[in-house]
Amino acid sequence: MLSMRERLVKNSYHTITITGMTSEGLGTGILEGIPVIVKKALPGELVNIKIIKITPTLAIGKLIEIINPAADRVDPFCKIFSRCGGCSLQHLGYESQVRFKTERVRELAGTAAAFTNIIIHKTLGMDTPLHYRNKALYPVGQKGGAPVLGFYANRSHDIVEHSTCDIQPEIVNTIRAAVRDFLLTYKISLYDETRHVGLARHLMVRASVKTGEIMVVLVINGSHLPRQALFVKQLTTKVPGITSIILNSNLEDTNAILGETNRVLYGKSVITDILGDLRFEVSPGSFYQVNPAQTEVLYRKVLEYAELSETETVVDLYCGIGTISLFLASHANKMYGVEIVEEAVQDAIRNAHVNGITNADFFQGAAEDGLPRMIQQGVTPDVVLVDPPRKGCGERVLETLCHIRPKRLIYVSCDPKTLIRDLDFLAAHGFHVAEIQPVDMFPHTTHVECIARLKPVS
Ligand code: SAH
Repeated sequence: MLSMRERLVKNSYHTITITGMTSEGLGTGILEGIPVIVKKALPGELVNIKIIKITPTLAIGKLIEIINPAADRVDPFCKIFSRCGGCSLQHLGYESQVRFKTERVRELAGTAAAFTNIIIHKTLGMDTPLHYRNKALYPVGQKGGAPVLGFYANRSHDIVEHSTCDIQPEIVNTIRAAVRDFLLTYKISLYDETRHVGLARHLMVRASVKTGEIMVVLVINGSHLPRQALFVKQLTTKVPGITSIILNSNLEDTNAILGETNRVLYGKSVITDILGDLRFEVSPGSFYQVNPAQTEVLYRKVLEYAELSETETVVDLYCGIGTISLFLASHANKMYGVEIVEEAVQDAIRNAHVNGITNADFFQGAAEDGLPRMIQQGVTPDVVLVDPPRKGCGERVLETLCHIRPKRLIYVSCDPKTLIRDLDFLAAHGFHVAEIQPVDMFPHTTHVECIARLKPVS
């Protein structure tokens, strides 16, 4: 007779109860004592699977049939859900998505050695989690010589085409189709990333619901777009609301989407959006939060956690175009922002001016250098706010924070894993980690944004 483990072989069929979900939203269960991962299966479901891969530590099962669906399973609203790498939780009801995100942060916080008794609030979700993104990015590829503009499939660079994407504004679909038509009609060469040849590389669209402005950026591997005037004419005719068309040159053989050079082909060089009572001008290369409705929720929470008085000094590290700085500026005596991307710093300085804010200064540089330098020059922040990219804070930033011990420290993060790692370090070096508020900035994906509130231990 076969032992239990030997029965779990490639291509064998099994019935399994799904008991958990990975951080990427994949269902998990146990079969013959071995963890099994099943894409698109949900906790609580009884499913039939086919084993398609076995590794030394786990097995991968392909979902064949759902025998008992979970009560919170819903029909995905997107036709290409099964192939697109963009959203991975559309088959889970929104309330459960939000609960999943809270649980994920709580689980990760449980692994921290240096803090306990932290309050992790329920994730703040959206009332209508559709058409929430203000930015679309499409790689340009080709199929049978014709242009394809779509999203990358999960864990690959295969481009999945689609006619609509319901997490983006409707207008983006029209723009993508118009750009595709142009590339096809005028036989513009298409970028091939494996050989680093061909012209059209990426399309980026930003749209503001509040101002109605629309920015279209075509990224090319070159400096000249054939039929450029026709490109502008066709786009502005088909999409009358466009306020800027920009040609970005990226000649590098790299995964970075935008190159350094932007040329305005039509309209303005920036797009203007409104958050709260403030106007923000955003250049093509600057970071800007993609979900403006939830950004306001996030920033209001930051303002609450900052507990500012009008005599206080605040330092905003990784400040982008100065959005958080300017949101807090009227509640503080002095704001300082530090940001590595020159274009974003220029936006921040201009945005302070546009909003009549005179107590905010912005510096270009790495936070790792900028914070120690500022301290050396005599700045004594009462409150420090950090909002680093996914990899978290630089070590030197954390060390400096432990040295200067601001009265309040707020950590905004788009990756709970690196957040907990950094909070663990801060807790081990004199900070009390009081609470974390997750905010759902990216419905239907597994991403979670968090705000943590810390104070130095007295
Ligand atoms: N707080 C801003 C931006 C957050 S995104 C907002 O809410 O919009 C993170 C920002 O950190 C990006 O603008 C990125 O360009 C910047 N950045 C990345 N590495 C950095 C570093 N080492 N030092 C300073 N800024 C950095």
